[in-house]
Amino acid sequence: MVKRILILGGGVSGYVAAKRILEGLKEVNEQAEITVINKDPYHYMPPLFFDVALGYASPESTRASLANLEKYGIKVVVDEAQSIDAANRTVAGTKDKYQYDYLVVALGIDYGWNAYPGLDKEGVHNYDLDGAIKAKKALDQVKDGQNVTILVPELPYRCGIYPYEIATALSAFFRARNKKVSIRLIDPMPSPAASLGPAIARFLHDQLEYYGVEYHPNSKFREIDPSKKSVIVEGGEFKYDVLIKVPPSRLPKPLAASEGFAWKQDPRWTAVLPNARHPQYDDIYLVGEHALPPLGIGLAGVFVESLAITAATNILGDLVGGFGPAFVPSPVSCVGYAGDKGWAGTCELPFDQDKGTYTMKCYFTGVYTIGRLLKQAFYHGWLDGLGG
Ligand SMILES: Cc1cc2nc3c(=O)[nH]c(=O)nc-3n(C[C@H](O)[C@H](O)[C@H](O)COP(=O)(O)OP(=O)(O)OC[C@H]3O[C@@H](n4cnc5c(N)ncnc54)[C@H](O)[C@@H]3O)c2cc1C
Repeated sequence: MVKRILILGGGVSGYVAAKRILEGLKEVNEQAEITVINKDPYHYMPPLFFDVALGYASPESTRASLANLEKYGIKVVVDEAQSIDAANRTVAGTKDKYQYDYLVVALGIDYGWNAYPGLDKEGVHNYDLDGAIKAKKALDQVKDGQNVTILVPELPYRCGIYPYEIATALSAFFRARNKKVSIRLIDPMPSPAASLGPAIARFLHDQLEYYGVEYHPNSKFREIDPSKKSVIVEGGEFKYDVLIKVPPSRLPKPLAASEGFAWKQDPRWTAVLPNARHPQYDDIYLVGEHALPPLGIGLAGVFVESLAITAATNILGDLVGGFGPAFVPSPVSCVGYAGDKGWAGTCELPFDQDKGTYTMKCYFTGVYTIGRLLKQAFYHGWLDGLGG
């Protein structure tokens, strides 16, 4: 009988997993039924929400219709998953129940806006499309002499380089408009993106200085006082005019509601083996951001892409033989914004046998005027690949 592969989530990791499994099956002339379940009809490229907030991209250009996958033979179902019954190989959605032979969980993270007092009531963000549209309005109204504060409440958060990108890009944004706006960054890290190593940290530190960003490392966030418009950290308080907030990461609801998914050491993440399999159920693979920290890897699209390729290779190995077991491939490269330019880095992910996790060894590879445009072109090209 043809095997049923169910992919929960049609974001970055779910899309890569679906495509890779399909391509692999074609190569060996095998069949499987691939279904992607997503809570809305679109595949989004979240880094473009940044560009929407700054007016560099339109809201429509951040997404492509998942229904386009159907022409390749991948079934797309719009439904919100509620829970997984791993023992009975069933996913419960709002509209229906779905059975599988293999399950790929690619649900990203949920945003824990309620995790700290005042965080849900104050500030803007560009971590979803609706948020980005509101952030654009707020940024367009900033006046001379005002302060924009960027707050990172806790670690790790989605896209480790984001706060430094938005801080320097905003500084360039206001300078280009001849507005004197002070930018502040409140960061729990000891130095910028410290987990990516000293070369990248030094570069980002210099960029923050160059763009005049007031930087507060080692900050332990407590709460926001909406009445005073201030961020309260251990030992201090910062007043702002506009607050830009990074969401605390939380386990996606369907995983929190299901037996056997939360990682015991830290229930914000899913338990997972280095080859992307579930520790107890060998028919379940975990490839979304919720699976990265237990593997020793930071939260980013480039890393879920590698994890999704790992899972796809292992599923193909199970189905047709001759592959794997596959481990997360590296190196991966990424481009970040630095003011109005782009900078590039590369990360290797060697596996540490003693720790049983991957380690991140990242290098700074340069800053380029054209880098920003290359980054934007990559995201739009990705969506064009799925579009129309
Ligand atoms: C502003 C910003 C800038 C970024 N910049 C970069 C960058 O420069 N480089 C980089 O590598 N990464 C970057 N990222 C991070 C990158 O976008 C994420 O790492 C990536 O999207 C994670 O992929 P995922 O598949 O785990 O989650 P997602 O892409 O979020 O996909 C999750 C999918 O699951 C669906 N879903 C959720 N819950 C349910 C449910 N209950 N039922 C059904 N479907 C559900 C969602 O609709 C979504 O389609 C950035 C992110 C943001 C927000």
